[in-house]
Amino acid sequence: MSIKSSNIGYPRIGENREWKKVLELFWSNEINEEQFYSEMEQIRLSHLRKQKEKGIDLIPIGDFSYYDQVLDTAAMFGLIPERFKTGETKVSLKTYFEIARGSSGKIASEMTKWFNTNYHYIVPELKDAKPTLQENRILNLYLEAKNKLGIHGKPVILGPITLLSLSKGYDEQKRAELLNSLITLYIEVFKQLKEAGAEWIQIDEPILVKNVEEELINEFKEVYTAFQGGVPDVKFILQTYFESIEFYQEITQLPVQGIGLDFVHDEGVNVENLKKYGFPNDKVLFAGVVDGRNIWKSSLTEKASLLKELTSFVDENRLIVQPSCSLLHVPVTVKNEQKLDTQIKDALAFADEKLEEIVYLTKFANDELGVAELERYDQAVHSLKNSAHRNVQMVHDAMKNRENDSSSRIDSKIRKELQAEQFQLPILPTTTIGSFPQTKEVRKQRLKWRKGELSAAKYEQYIQSEIKKWIDIQEVLELDVLVHGEFERTDMVEFFGEKLEGVAITKFGWVQSYGSRCVKPPVIFGDVYCIENMTVKETVYAQSLTKKPVKGMLTGPVTIINWSFVRDDISRTDVLNHVALAIRAEVKALEASGIKMIQVDEAALREGLPLKEEKTEKYLNAAVYAFKLATSSVEDNTQIHTHMCYSNFDDIIHAIDELDADVISIETSRSHGELIASFEQHHYNKGIGLGVYDIHSPRVPTIDELSQNIKRALEVLDYRAFWVNPDCGLKTRGEAETIAALKVMVEAAHNYREKL
Ligand code: GLN
Ligand code: ZN
Repeated sequence: MSIKSSNIGYPRIGENREWKKVLELFWSNEINEEQFYSEMEQIRLSHLRKQKEKGIDLIPIGDFSYYDQVLDTAAMFGLIPERFKTGETKVSLKTYFEIARGSSGKIASEMTKWFNTNYHYIVPELKDAKPTLQENRILNLYLEAKNKLGIHGKPVILGPITLLSLSKGYDEQKRAELLNSLITLYIEVFKQLKEAGAEWIQIDEPILVKNVEEELINEFKEVYTAFQGGVPDVKFILQTYFESIEFYQEITQLPVQGIGLDFVHDEGVNVENLKKYGFPNDKVLFAGVVDGRNIWKSSLTEKASLLKELTSFVDENRLIVQPSCSLLHVPVTVKNEQKLDTQIKDALAFADEKLEEIVYLTKFANDELGVAELERYDQAVHSLKNSAHRNVQMVHDAMKNRENDSSSRIDSKIRKELQAEQFQLPILPTTTIGSFPQTKEVRKQRLKWRKGELSAAKYEQYIQSEIKKWIDIQEVLELDVLVHGEFERTDMVEFFGEKLEGVAITKFGWVQSYGSRCVKPPVIFGDVYCIENMTVKETVYAQSLTKKPVKGMLTGPVTIINWSFVRDDISRTDVLNHVALAIRAEVKALEASGIKMIQVDEAALREGLPLKEEKTEKYLNAAVYAFKLATSSVEDNTQIHTHMCYSNFDDIIHAIDELDADVISIETSRSHGELIASFEQHHYNKGIGLGVYDIHSPRVPTIDELSQNIKRALEVLDYRAFWVNPDCGLKTRGEAETIAALKVMVEAAHNYREKL
C-alpha cells in the first residue's frame, strides 16, 4: 500500500473559458440542445483526462456542472420552486436554467455566496418540497467516465445536511421530515453507484466548518449511520473545507471510512486536534494540504513535512494527499500567461499546477522522488519571496510610520457643520454612486487602445468627451453632486490593480463567480504602492467643467484585497495596510487638486466576514483601521463618502460607524426600509445616502416607489441625515433608461425638499 492522491473538484470553465462560451451560445439560441450536450461532454471529458494524465488517483466525478453544483443537487432530488414546476418527470435543461436565471414573469431563485468564497450558488427553495429522485446524474457521469475513459472516478455529491442548511423556505419543524426523505434518496443514489463499481464516494459537508450546534452533530450521527446501514460496503468520505471543524472527536467518530480536512485554512486547529485526540485507526485521512483558494506555488518541502507530521497520527496507507478544497476557486492553468514577469509567473500555481504539486508530494511520500527535487521546485517560491518586489523600502517606511497617520478626524458633528458651509447643498442632496453606462462604444475604444490601434492621447480625448457629455447631462438633470462617470475603468478593482505597483493582472486568470460570469482577480504579489496618481486627471477635468462639486471615486482597501488573490508570505492585514497607504496617497492627491468630496467604495466589506464568529471582530477591526488609514488625512471640511451595495447591516453597524465616513450610501430599495432601522437603533448620526432605486433592473422606477422609499427613511431618522441616490453604480445600464430613472429620482427628492 502506498499514499494516494486525490482531487476534490476541478474548475469547470476551461482554459479559455470554453464552458462559458458554450453556455452563452446555447442561451442565445446559437446552438441547439444536442450541440450543447455534445460540447459540454467534450469539455467534461477533457477535464477528466487531464486529471488522469497528471497522475491523480481519485478523480472527482459530478463536480462538473452546467451552472452550479447546489442547483444540480436540488434538481436531482426534485427540489424545484413551485413556480418552475411543469409536471415533467425529469428536470429539463430549460427548467434548470430558468431556476437559475428567471424567465418571463418568473423570478430566478436567489443566489448567494458559497461560504467565504466569491462563488455564488443558487439557493434551493423548499417550500412544500417533496423530494423525489429525478435522475441519478452522478451515476450517469460515473458511467460516462468509466466507459469512455476507463476512469474509475470518485463520485462527489453535496451532503444532505449542508444542502438543507443552505436552503430556504421551509419550517424548522419540517426539517426532520425533509431530511428523512432525503436520506432514502441519497441511499438509492449510493446503491446505484456502488452497483456500477464506485469505491469511494465523497460527500461534501462544508457546513461543518461554521459555528455549529450540538444538534447539528446529532443530525450527522443519524444521517451517516443511516447511510452506512443502507449501503454497507461503499466507502464514504465526509469532506469539509475552508476552515477547521468544531466537534472534532464526534465528527471523526462518525460511521464513514474517510474524513476530509482542510490543513491550509484551519489556522492550525485541525492539526492541533489531531495531536490532542489522535485519529481513529479505522479511517482514512484525506489531507487538504495544497491551497485550493490561492494561486501561489506551495513550498513542497514545507508541505512534505506537514505530511510527515500527519503520518505520526495516521498510517501511511490511510493517508491521501489532496487540495484544501475544490479547485473551482482558482483559475485553470498558468501556462498561457505569456506576458507576466517570469519571476511572478514561476511562483504561480493554478488548478493544473496544483494537481502537479499533489502528485509530487504523493511521490515524495512514497519515496519515488528525492528531497532535492522538492527543493528545486521551491526555488521559484524563494525567488519571489526574496525579490525586490517584496522589499520596497518606501513601503516598509510608510508601514512603520503609519501610527502617526491613523489618528482620528475631529468629531463628525463639527465636520458636518464645516462641510455644510463648504458645499452649501440643499436638503436631501442628490447624487450617484460613480459609474455611468459603459456603452459598447466605450468598451470598443478601450479595446482599440489596449491593442495599440488607438494612441493613448486619442483614448484620453475620447474619455474626456464622455466625461463632458455626462457632466452636461448631470447638470440638466439638476443633480447636486456630480461624478466623472468612471469611463476609464473596466472594473472597480482591476482598474486600481493595473495602476498599483505590486499588483499584476493576468490574461487568463478567470474564476467562475456565478453562472457563466467569471472574474479575473488581480494578483497582489509584492509590496503595494503607487508611483503616479491614479484618478486625479479625470476627476479634475470633470470638476473644471462645472461649478457643482464633483465627487472623487476610489475603491477602498478592504474591497481591493477581498477581490484579489493576495500574497501569502506576510499577513493579510499587512497587505491590507499596504493598499490602504496607497489609497491614502490618492486621497491626498485628489484633495490637493481641489477635490473636496471623495468616495471610497467598500462594496466587499461585508462579504469578507470570516466563517467563524469568533474571528469577526478581528476582521472588522482590521477593516476599520485600514479604511481610516486611507481616509483620515483629509481636512475637516473635506467630505469622505463610502458606498456599500447591500442591505444587511445589523451585525456590522458598529464597525460601519467606526469607519467614520461622513456619508455612507446604502441599498434601500429592495430591503423596504428595514435597514434604516439598524442605523436608527445604533443612533447613527452621520450622512446616509438612500439607494432609492434598484439599478440591477432596466426598469425606470415610478415616482411613487421612490417617494415611498424616501418617506420610510424620513419616518425613522432626521431628514437632515439623508441623501438621495441610486443603489449602486450605473455602469451596466443603458443611457436612455439611466437618464429617465435619474430624472424621476431628482423629481422625487425635489418634491420632498419642498415639503420639509
Ligand atoms: N463606484 C462604483 C460604481 O459606481 C461602485 C460599484 C459597486 O459598488 N459595486 O460602479
Ligand atoms: Zn454598489
